[in-house]
Amino acid sequence: MINPEITSFGDQMQVTEEGCLSIPELYYEVERPNDVTVKYTDLDGQEVTKEAEGKLAVCIQHELDHLDGVLYIDYLSRLKRDRVIKKFDKQAKRAAG
Ligand SMILES: [Zn+2]
Repeated sequence: MINPEITSFGDQMQVTEEGCLSIPELYYEVERPNDVTVKYTDLDGQEVTKEAEGKLAVCIQHELDHLDGVLYIDYLSRLKRDRVIKKFDKQAKRAAG
């Protein structure tokens, strides 16, 4: 997907456990719209509009958020998010030896 853009979100929400290579080994539940419509350019230079639902819709939202500097933990409550960041810091320190 080149220059992807979500053009619409469905009204129905879903809660899915998400993880991310940017925050290894930690998984949290996030609520997101169950359906999205995404517009992008494919590898042949064609403009494509695709509707996605369920897990694929979650993946698209998660990955497109990265393009805007947003991580899935940004959707957690401040308390939970702070806890994740603490755990992540501990992991990073352990990994650094
Ligand atoms: Zn990610």
